[in-house]
Amino acid sequence: MTSPRGRFFSALVAICLLTLSGFAAAGPTISVAVDASEAPRKIFHARLRIPASPGTLTLFYPKWIPGEHAPDGPVDDLAGLKFSAAGQTLKWRRDLLDGWTINVEVPAGQNEVLADLDFLSPATLEGGFSAGSSATDKLAIISWNQVLLYPKGSKSDDITLSASLKIPQGWKYATSLNTVNAAGNDLHFAPVSLTMLVDSPVLTGQYLKAVPLNSGQSPPAELDVAADSAAALEPPQEVWDHYKNLVAQAGALFGAQHYRQYHFLYTLSDHVAHFGLEHHESDDSRVSERGLVDETERKLHASLLPHEYTHSWNGKYRRPADLATPDYQQPMQTDLLWVYEGLTNYLGSILTARSGLWTPEDFRQDLAGVAADLDHLPGRTWRNLQDTADAAPQLYFTSRAWYSWRRGVDFYDEDTLNWLWVDVIIRRQTKGQKSLDDFCKLFHGAPGGPPALKTYTFDDVLQGLNQVTPYDWRGFWIERLTNHGPGAPLGGIEGSGWKLEYQETPTDFYRSEERDANRVLEVYTVGLRLRDDGGVIDTIEGMMAAKAGIGPGMKIVAVNGRRFSADVLHEAIKAAKGGSDPIELLVENTDYYKTFKLDYHEGERYPHLVRDESKPDLLSEIIKAK
Ligand SMILES: [Zn+2]
Repeated sequence: MTSPRGRFFSALVAICLLTLSGFAAAGPTISVAVDASEAPRKIFHARLRIPASPGTLTLFYPKWIPGEHAPDGPVDDLAGLKFSAAGQTLKWRRDLLDGWTINVEVPAGQNEVLADLDFLSPATLEGGFSAGSSATDKLAIISWNQVLLYPKGSKSDDITLSASLKIPQGWKYATSLNTVNAAGNDLHFAPVSLTMLVDSPVLTGQYLKAVPLNSGQSPPAELDVAADSAAALEPPQEVWDHYKNLVAQAGALFGAQHYRQYHFLYTLSDHVAHFGLEHHESDDSRVSERGLVDETERKLHASLLPHEYTHSWNGKYRRPADLATPDYQQPMQTDLLWVYEGLTNYLGSILTARSGLWTPEDFRQDLAGVAADLDHLPGRTWRNLQDTADAAPQLYFTSRAWYSWRRGVDFYDEDTLNWLWVDVIIRRQTKGQKSLDDFCKLFHGAPGGPPALKTYTFDDVLQGLNQVTPYDWRGFWIERLTNHGPGAPLGGIEGSGWKLEYQETPTDFYRSEERDANRVLEVYTVGLRLRDDGGVIDTIEGMMAAKAGIGPGMKIVAVNGRRFSADVLHEAIKAAKGGSDPIELLVENTDYYKTFKLDYHEGERYPHLVRDESKPDLLSEIIKAK
């Protein structure tokens, strides 16, 4: 997933290598018929047939959602629940200790329970992950975990699901499931394990375009884009070409694929939650309606599909053993997310550049912003990077207020810097003969084939790195995961021949990010992260605004007596450079107004990467197309 570790000494767990596509029918077979024909009303209906025997039938609503790393299965949106057997309505009650568990009383003589349920998709725009807004007047994403229950007692690999789906009249669809029968808008899919059904969402919409990305090659990859308008599906040809490069570059990086066919399911809408969620053979990625046709938007979101695609190797095929749970009820342990998400974030960024979705300059501008934000994060003095992973199930859902002091799921961005550092060390140790690409081939590559799961531990990661080049990798990672700074880990950037510097003019990337997110950022000057209406999202603890008494939740109303706007604030900071008059901020806080004076005179500061000519330029080498 996007944004979003052993316990270092965890016992070595035997690696399990499991093929997920073929399944021995050791468990029950369930049929699920989902009616999404009312998707524009944001309600989905489902009917399930579940084998049962007389007595108590314990059913689970999926709680821990793979890739979301949290117990966020949206059970509060489960409605219309009704159970029957042979026409007789059955009694049920929720488990008092776990709200995702339902007990149904099955009468004597019955061997099947019929379950009817509705899933209430958010009615107004809600963020979040797959439980966020997922349907508009023109499109919908169906996440199977939201429209089913499954019986206790079997692993999700061992339960067979026979699924069908009714979509709105005239809508098209895309999924990695195999369709065995499509009569009009009634789709019937080949039976799969519960694991693979939950892993295979369906994207459907009135405007849906399928673009093959590696025609004639095996396994095939396809970009399926649904949008709220037909016009949003017509970017310049070079965009499709860059995504074709992405498939080729990932193939070159890993050397083998672990899918039979891959579908990028890309949703373009201003009315759905924006995020990306990985699967073995597809990804559910969602950005704004103009996310492909508008060049600025396209660049801002360019690394999303490369990130989610990388997860097919790193996250789905290779997965930390303690994140690979047998079903959706057992809690996941998130300590190794610095590999699962951190390495994916690094590889996703370099693949974005290698495929041409970003220019080298775009890549550097993005990296400069990442490094600068992490360099202004006082929360690292109390919370180390390991704890951001250990606490991930909670941190994914915290507010942006107090972020600099609380910290968030920093194992995405901070481990981008750390894995760059690893890449640089490998290149230096081997005098350019090897790189992190070799680790990826070894750890994530051959033999390819259908979806499989090969788990790993911290020790396995160290062993893989040592196989590429011997080094004190344990010492390196323990230091990276437990240190308290000060400042961001910049060893990778500096070792790759570049320096993080602050200059008075922003990069294009920086300004676009600010505008796209409706933010006003003075993080590196006075320590303010604002909404574009002056609302204070966060103050950086220890920097001037926080020390003066400003805090999250307040609102800057005026700057030097003039009504607040982004330009007014930026201009005031520029004008105060070298002077002696303080910058006056009129701030509203819980109905009261107060003036704060900031004695800041160093001018604007924006992050840039600048070349360090004393060292070879490894960074440019790293992002070159292979
Ligand atoms: Zn991810």
